[in-house]
Amino acid sequence: MKQEIFTKKVRINIVATSFLVLIIVGWIQYNYQYSHLKNKFHGKIENVIKQQLMNDLGSIKGIISSLSSYYQSTTEMNSSVFSTLSNGLLDNYRYIEAIIFLTIVKDEEKEIFEEDMREDGHYNFSINTINKNRTILKSTEIKSKYAPIIYIEPSNYYLTKYYGLDLYNTMTFKSSFDEASKTGNVIIKDNIVMDNLGKEMTFFIKPTYKNITRLDTEKKRIENTNGFYLIAINIEKLFSDIKEKFPDFNITTTKYDSTIENKAQSVFFDELYFFEKISDLERSYIYITKQLYLNDYNLVSFVLILFITMVIQALLVVIWYINESSKITLHYKATHDDLTTLANRTYFKEQFNKKINNFNNTNNKFIAVLFIDIDNFKDINDSFGHKFGDEVLIKVSKKFKTTLSNQILISRNGGDEFLILMDGRNNIESIVDLINEIMELISQPITLKSYNLHLTVSIGVSLYPNDGNNIDDLLKNADAAMYIAKDDGRNTFKFYQKNMTEELMEKLLLQNELKDAIQNDEFTLNYQPQFDGRNDKLVGMEVLVRWTNKNGNTVAPVKFIPLAEQTGLIINLDRLVMKKAIKQFAEWKNQNFNTGRLSINLSIKQLKTEDFLEIFKELLTRYNVNPRDIELEVTEGALMDNPLDAIAKLDDLSNFGINLSVDDFGTGYSSLAYLKKLPISKLKIDKSFVDGLPDHNDDVAIVKSIIALAKSLNLDVIAEGVENIQQREFLVANGCNKIQGYFYAKPLKKEEIELTF
Ligand code: C2E
Ligand code: CA
Ligand code: CA
Repeated sequence: MKQEIFTKKVRINIVATSFLVLIIVGWIQYNYQYSHLKNKFHGKIENVIKQQLMNDLGSIKGIISSLSSYYQSTTEMNSSVFSTLSNGLLDNYRYIEAIIFLTIVKDEEKEIFEEDMREDGHYNFSINTINKNRTILKSTEIKSKYAPIIYIEPSNYYLTKYYGLDLYNTMTFKSSFDEASKTGNVIIKDNIVMDNLGKEMTFFIKPTYKNITRLDTEKKRIENTNGFYLIAINIEKLFSDIKEKFPDFNITTTKYDSTIENKAQSVFFDELYFFEKISDLERSYIYITKQLYLNDYNLVSFVLILFITMVIQALLVVIWYINESSKITLHYKATHDDLTTLANRTYFKEQFNKKINNFNNTNNKFIAVLFIDIDNFKDINDSFGHKFGDEVLIKVSKKFKTTLSNQILISRNGGDEFLILMDGRNNIESIVDLINEIMELISQPITLKSYNLHLTVSIGVSLYPNDGNNIDDLLKNADAAMYIAKDDGRNTFKFYQKNMTEELMEKLLLQNELKDAIQNDEFTLNYQPQFDGRNDKLVGMEVLVRWTNKNGNTVAPVKFIPLAEQTGLIINLDRLVMKKAIKQFAEWKNQNFNTGRLSINLSIKQLKTEDFLEIFKELLTRYNVNPRDIELEVTEGALMDNPLDAIAKLDDLSNFGINLSVDDFGTGYSSLAYLKKLPISKLKIDKSFVDGLPDHNDDVAIVKSIIALAKSLNLDVIAEGVENIQQREFLVANGCNKIQGYFYAKPLKKEEIELTF
């Protein structure tokens, strides 16, 4: 199971929240950009519409100015000319409601004027005025001047009734006319309701002057004004024309009070739905959209900025997520073993510390730490290679994972060592049950690359709080117990006991001393003679190593040989012994001292080293020793542990002429089949059987059958540890003539040998 800093739920929440934030930020940005752009856009549309309005109003100004200029320059103005000119304009400008001309009539000319007009065909013509009720009456009040309507187009029923209406002397117009007359400009007078039409009109007023050159003062202009052009426009119609050009916008107009310019600014729009409208606009008003696209804050950059910021935000979220998950994988890596994916020692310790922090809150009596080591795993590596060894470890881990309850924490300590943490069990029996379960599990053969491997494990157990109050002590003690289990012959378990670590410390010290001893050559050799029991003749000698350490104490081989075996130091030690022994043997031979065959103990580990045979041959050659004079002793147990492995090497040795003897015979459960195949020449009956001779029936039987076996396989036989004459007699009587033991001699120093023989 992956161990995670954040639970899945928390991580999902974090990612979900950050995406939510992303969306909100994006949304805010979108709205900001949208409204920004919308304002710009509205501004643009407003400007365009305002422009249109100004253009239209400008046209009217232009038209009225042209009309008045024309009037000033021509002498041929009459109602039909006026009508022609006006109707052309009325057709083209829908919003022009009326085009009117007023002529100035001074009071003294009034009657003559009225007379002239009537003669001209306007039968009832008179200069009229309009009262508060909007009734048209004949003007009776005397004014200094009048400005009656003399032309009006279109000349329909509604308008022709205004013929003769003096607009000058009205409250509404007088100031506008005066202003126009004074300045010569087009004056706009709005908000005029024309009778019957019921519409609000806006009037453009432009004076006409007598055709004299310099009108450079106000006074001259007022004096020379001879009429006014009026164009009445319907502003509603004007707007509706514009509206028609912008069908997508709900343009509303508001009432205005002063100038047309103000009115143009009071054009409003409803909400624009930006994306929809932009395409509508594209279709109908390329001009507008073009301007928009060319604008600094155009659509492209808006979308681009939005996109980039969203990508950056998404990227930040992704980077954050990768960072977090790499932290998680880092923690996973730091707490798990690459090869087996089991938890590692670090994780094991972490979990243990959690457990002891909580220990007092539980009813548990102890927490057990199991230290498991695969037996002889090194041999697997040596024989099949490390890759194969790794596969074995993976298989073993899988077994642990799939078979053991997941309440139990299994970790790999490194190499072929595993740790198990077990709590919640309150009696030793349940731990033993688990251990048996594990040993049973491991004992089921593993099939790998067509090999069937039979593994065993050694297990050490320590208990919290009895065997230590922290994980380091508990691991150390479980390790110590495991070592004791190994010493006890492997494939077993041991609970930690107080003196175990002391034993191990001693062992460790000894190991270091031994290393130094080999380096410094603190070894001497003893030779134990072997005799022919029938005639007491010397037939050979066994070389036995002695260690005198720095303090001058002699350390017994039983103490250091097994340790040397376990640690591999035996290889160098035996090479040292071999060299000394062969050298000594050659020396004695040169002195014509016949020792018989020299027996040297050979560790199986030594045998397996690649260069052993080469080195051994080289030694014999160097000291000119015949291989037939040398015998090598291999213990039965070591030999039978892996007979196939040894066979080839032993064959080489045998072919070279070396005699091979099986040491401690009877203790190692030899397979007869192998015994037949191995190139051996001698069996050495173990001391433990000799001890019981001649009274113990079992030993008698065993010794007799070993001798018989040797005979039938055509092998030589020797007995070791013969201490008394009864033993010797028995052996000789039963056909084992060769005798080694204290009865004849203890292992002797070189000098003692030389003195005795
Ligand atoms: P081993 O090969 O079985 O050697 C015989 C051991 O029995 C020797 O003990 C010897 O002193 C002892 N012994 C011989 N006769 C008698 C007897 O009548 N009574 C008693 N009580 N003991 C007797 P040692 O020298 O202590 O050696 C112990 C073991 O150490 C040897 O057992 C051998 O397995 C190993 N060993 C000794 N030297 C070497 C060596 O150079 N190389 C290797 N690989 N192993 C060695
Ligand atoms: Ca021996
Ligand atoms: Ca022996």
